[in-house]
Amino acid sequence: MAFFQVSHRSTRSKARIASIHTDHGVVQTPTFVPCATKGTLKGILPEQFKSMLVQLAFVNTYHLATHPGTEIIEKAKGVHEYGKLPIVLMSDSGGFQVFSLGRTDHRVAKLRGNESEKDEALLVKIDEDGVKLRSTHDGSLILFTPETSIAFQHQIGADLIMAFDECTYFPATHAYALKSLNRTHQWLERCITQHATLLNNKDRITKNQYLYGIIQGGQYEDLRIKSAEFVAQQDVDGVAIGGVSVGETKGDMRNQVRWCAPCLPENKPVHLLGVGHFDDIADLITCGIDTFDCVEPSRVARMGHIYQWQNVKSWLDNSRPQVAQSFFEMDITKGSYRDVMEPVDVACSCYVCTSFSKSYLHHLFKQRELLGYTLATYHNVYTMERYMGVLRDMIEKNEI
Ligand SMILES: [Zn+2]
Repeated sequence: MAFFQVSHRSTRSKARIASIHTDHGVVQTPTFVPCATKGTLKGILPEQFKSMLVQLAFVNTYHLATHPGTEIIEKAKGVHEYGKLPIVLMSDSGGFQVFSLGRTDHRVAKLRGNESEKDEALLVKIDEDGVKLRSTHDGSLILFTPETSIAFQHQIGADLIMAFDECTYFPATHAYALKSLNRTHQWLERCITQHATLLNNKDRITKNQYLYGIIQGGQYEDLRIKSAEFVAQQDVDGVAIGGVSVGETKGDMRNQVRWCAPCLPENKPVHLLGVGHFDDIADLITCGIDTFDCVEPSRVARMGHIYQWQNVKSWLDNSRPQVAQSFFEMDITKGSYRDVMEPVDVACSCYVCTSFSKSYLHHLFKQRELLGYTLATYHNVYTMERYMGVLRDMIEKNEI
């Protein structure tokens, strides 16, 4: 079975229905990818993933390298086995932490060229070879290079792995974005070599691992196109778009993806890193994006923000711009929900909504009961996946 198979291309846009085939199962796309950053989707039992409609989750190499350490995960025969995660997994490369750990002005100044930093910074050094990061867990130094990042990801054993890149900070100058882009491209070539070498290791945990190259280029159209063309020509299994949703406006974020769209490969899966709002997904799915990851549905759930998706029928009869308007977030901690006995979302048929009332979730959150975080996460992620199912149906009918 081929790794990536397209079963339908919309006649209206670049949207497509496809499947990704891995050792740990098949993923129907387009789909939403919740973040199981440290090897767990916070508050959720692994056996609940399937009933939440989750097919693919995202684990974070930097965090797993800091704790428990990738050698421990390898000893446990990979993160699937270690965390009893019964689904397909995607790991990032650690490149995003170059951005997220270095995003204060002080640290960004270092990214711009002053590399004589003091050791207390989390981001200790970035140069052409790679990045030295300080562990947020115990302060130890971890060297991320294209070679170590790919080696870490082979130890973790996720099915879909990412090339090591520099997530260009925002707003970067054109000159810096170009320098960063060239570095990311050189690193991609080293990642491809390292991945090919490690694939020859017969003792590997996950027999088939698929490498995605990452498109960067900041907020510059010429650089995004240059990067998309470069990555699409490489010997990679998939393509990801990175460095978006890092501080720019929603419109600028979408433009950065649109600029890449004409260069995206027809026969490889495309992932969009860090984007997961309902309206952004409905829009960018038309650029040929197959998978989207975002922490937001689970993060806001833990704050008591519960997705509400109503008027589904009327939305289906209307055009895409109205999609986002049929969603809102209910703050379940508000006192007005204290005695509301109706389901959490009357339009949802998930376990939470067929079992519990708004009043009960309000009670759990006000009392800081752990079950509240679990139920809210379950419903929000289920809602995202249910939404993706509706979008797949619409693509099938050439409605988007
Ligand atoms: Zn629900």
